[in-house]
Amino acid sequence: MQDNYQKILEQTLRKLSNTDEVPRLLLHSCCGPCSSYVLEYLAEYFDITVLYYNPNIYPPSEFEKRAAEQQKLVSGMEYRHSVSLISAEYHPEEFYDAVTGYESEPEGGTRCRRCFALRLEEAARFAREQDFDYFTTTLSVSPHKDAEALNSIGGALAGKYGIKYLYADFKKRNGYKRSIELSQQYGLYRQKYCGCEYSLEVLRRSEHDWNRGAG
Ligand code: SF4
Repeated sequence: MQDNYQKILEQTLRKLSNTDEVPRLLLHSCCGPCSSYVLEYLAEYFDITVLYYNPNIYPPSEFEKRAAEQQKLVSGMEYRHSVSLISAEYHPEEFYDAVTGYESEPEGGTRCRRCFALRLEEAARFAREQDFDYFTTTLSVSPHKDAEALNSIGGALAGKYGIKYLYADFKKRNGYKRSIELSQQYGLYRQKYCGCEYSLEVLRRSEHDWNRGAG
């Protein structure tokens, strides 16, 4: 049976509400739209540093565009506690090294698991180095992302790096719907594909097929 990660998150947040401390959270984020709901929710409980580390994104112009939207959101929203942003440099070879041999996997398969692990490991490493209390990722807000996979990777990395992972499934509680509303409210660009060149190719093929059908 799968764990209910939203319930686990609520239990953690309840415990935090009973203390005077405001813990520091390192939040890995894939893009502005996905982080919007997560920031609205978690900045009630944490001082948050957003880590935009996404070497999977293709092409480079798309990486820059999503980074700019992330910055726009972080500086445009109002939060109860502090929210700041760190944008990592773009090194796509880190992604290609991680997924070599799995390029043709369908979305949701081993390639994606390795992509999650790459990004979460950088978040765990950085959170440990900078002495954060918790780390987590926005990725589970997407209906296309497997919360079970994300949380099991996060839990394993928590053990490896000795830092707490904030278990969550942000698509629950209408998180995805709220992220669409907030994206509209803040005028954010919402991309049509996950990020890597393989997911872009799938989008191009489906648009091509649709156009042929429509013609
Ligand atoms: S489809 Fe998304 S999660 Fe999967 S490898 Fe590509 S960018 Fe990563």
